[in-house]
Amino acid sequence: MEILHTCAELRQWSRQKRLLQARNDRGNTIGLVPTMGALHAGHASLIRAAASSCTHVAVSIFVNPTQFGPNEDFSRYPRTFAADCALAQAAGADVIFAPSVEELYPNGPESTFIEVPALSDRLDGKSRPGHFRGVATVVAKLFIAAEPDRAFFGQKDSAQVAVLRRMTADLRLATEIVVCPIVREPDGLALSSRNIYLSPEEREWALTLSRALRQAQALFAAGERRASKITQAARITFAEMPQIRVDYIALVDWDTLEPIETATPGSLFAVAAWVGATRLIDNAILGESSR
Ligand code: AMP
Repeated sequence: MEILHTCAELRQWSRQKRLLQARNDRGNTIGLVPTMGALHAGHASLIRAAASSCTHVAVSIFVNPTQFGPNEDFSRYPRTFAADCALAQAAGADVIFAPSVEELYPNGPESTFIEVPALSDRLDGKSRPGHFRGVATVVAKLFIAAEPDRAFFGQKDSAQVAVLRRMTADLRLATEIVVCPIVREPDGLALSSRNIYLSPEEREWALTLSRALRQAQALFAAGERRASKITQAARITFAEMPQIRVDYIALVDWDTLEPIETATPGSLFAVAAWVGATRLIDNAILGESSR
C-alpha cells in the first residue's frame, strides 16, 4: 500500500489509476474515504464499502486543525498512524493520503475557505462555531486533489453529511456522496475515535445517547409523529442521567437541518452530549431499523 503526502501525488495516483486498463466494463473508479485517523471498525466499514464499489480506494488521514475550536482537543486527538495503515490496508485501501498541515493550508489562516452558510450554524455548527467551515474546506481540498467518483462518509456525523451534500450540490462537484450506517458496540455505543477518552464509568453513562435514540425510534414505530413528544421523551431519559450534559436533542429535516414539528420517515433525530470532558454525538433516521 502506497503512502502519499502531497496533493500533486494524490492527483497523479488518481489519474493514473483511472487510465489503467479497466478490470471491468464500467471502467476504473476512484473511491475516497476521508478520516482523521485513530481508525476503528466504523472507518473500516467505510473503506470496505468503498472497496466493494470502486476499483481503487484512497483513505486520507489528516487531523484537520481548522475544524477544531481553540479550546477543543486538536493537540490531544489520538494519532495512531501505523495501526491506521494496517487497518486501512486490511479493509481494502490501495493508498493512504497523509498530508502535513502546511500541504493542505499553504497560506495558513490566510488560505481560501469554503462556507456552507445555510447549514453551518446548525446542530454541531451551533455549538462548534467554524467547525463546518473547516470540514467543508478540507473535504473540498481532498475532492479537488483526489478527483474521486465517490466519497464515503458515516451517518454518525449526520450534520456533516448534510453540509457536504449541500457543498457538493452548490459547487456542482462530480463526486457522489455515499453515506454508510453507524457501526456500534454490542451494547449500542456508537464507535468513535473519542471513546478512548472515556473512563469506565463515563463509558456506561455514554450509553444514554443510544438509549435515547432507540426510544425515539420506538415511539415513531408506535405511531408518534409529534416532534415535541419525541424530543421530550429523550429529554427525560437524559434527565435521569444527570452526569451527562446535553448539548442538543433535535428532530430535523436531514437536508436542511431545520427543526420539524411533524416527524416523517427519513427525519433525522440527533443528539449531542458532554460525558465528562468528552463531547459525543449520535443519531437515528426515523423509520429505519437500528440495533
Ligand atoms: P473521523 O475520523 O471521526 O473524522 O471520521 C471519518 C469518517 O468515519 C466520517 O465520515 C465519520 O462519519 C465516519 N465514522 C465515524 N464513526 C463511525 C461509526 N461508528 N460508524 C460509521 N462511520 C463512522
